[in-house]
Amino acid sequence: MITIASAVHSLHDPDAAGPMPNGRPYLDMASRAANLLAMVHELGHSVTYAPDHGLVPIAAVHDAGYLEFLRTGFDRWQAEGGSGPILRAWAFALRQMGRRPEAVMGQAGYYLSGASSPLVAGTWQAAVASAHVAVDGAARVLAGAREAYALCRPSGHHAYADLAGGFCYLNNAAIAAQHCVDAGRRVAILDIDVHHGNGTQGIFYRTDQVFFCSVHEDPNATYPWYAGYADETGEGAGGGANLNLPLPPGTGDAGWLAAVARGVAAVGQARAQVLVVSLGFDAAAGDPTANLQVSPDGFQAAGRLIAQAGLPTVLVQEGGYLIERLGGNLHAFLDGFLGARVSV
Ligand SMILES: [Zn+2]
Repeated sequence: MITIASAVHSLHDPDAAGPMPNGRPYLDMASRAANLLAMVHELGHSVTYAPDHGLVPIAAVHDAGYLEFLRTGFDRWQAEGGSGPILRAWAFALRQMGRRPEAVMGQAGYYLSGASSPLVAGTWQAAVASAHVAVDGAARVLAGAREAYALCRPSGHHAYADLAGGFCYLNNAAIAAQHCVDAGRRVAILDIDVHHGNGTQGIFYRTDQVFFCSVHEDPNATYPWYAGYADETGEGAGGGANLNLPLPPGTGDAGWLAAVARGVAAVGQARAQVLVVSLGFDAAAGDPTANLQVSPDGFQAAGRLIAQAGLPTVLVQEGGYLIERLGGNLHAFLDGFLGARVSV
């Protein structure tokens, strides 16, 4: 299995700017990707670094004004006298007031949905490179590879077409999926990160070109709070093409795997030709951002279940914040996934 990685993800390092406003460290640390990459090397998989795939596949998903803000926002803020290594929004466009202002601080609160998605000097470069990792994975699968592992950082599934959030700026999984749609494929996305893939849902909510299923902790108990409920099933042409499977806090392997199995069955019914997996490891017991209790054996079993979909698959890395256990959980997942692929 080929792994595609980024050479510049560490340019996005808000943790280096100090604690977040809540006093906690910025949990999307650069060492997350290093830990995962070390495991890929240990397992003997080949690793390549994504070439520049340009902005076209990114702009196929994201709003032009949003991309311009991500590209220039930090420098504009500095040019206007903003000081320090990190641009955070302090006031936000909310449901009662949604005008887009011209001032950079106003745009920060328009395009960045919370404290978990600030801009630092290297955010744009790292986010674009992360998107290119996903595009490269999709391109390889379109060219005939059975699977590819896109080791993305920053993650993507909380990013909407025009809104960053939850450590995410560009929606890598959505960009990979759209790249396959544009090549004429029917696509399904199965999101097993412990947090609902709200950005991905938002991007494809009104289309039947991409079937989206998310298995996650109840958003009434954790981020992203405002989306991810079971009654969100898609609208218009996308009606019925969105399946949310929220789970109560404390759910362990049995309940989580039953939901993953339900998601795999739904992917089969969607008659997809390519599967994109939003692969988070933050359902792990003890993860600091959520409250599920999945074990390494659970991740291995999830890998087996997802392999049984029998589809060309792009694995797109999302969250997971128990850094010292990330590599082990990736190992377990790939063991199940690649082991079961042999018989597909
Ligand atoms: Zn997550």
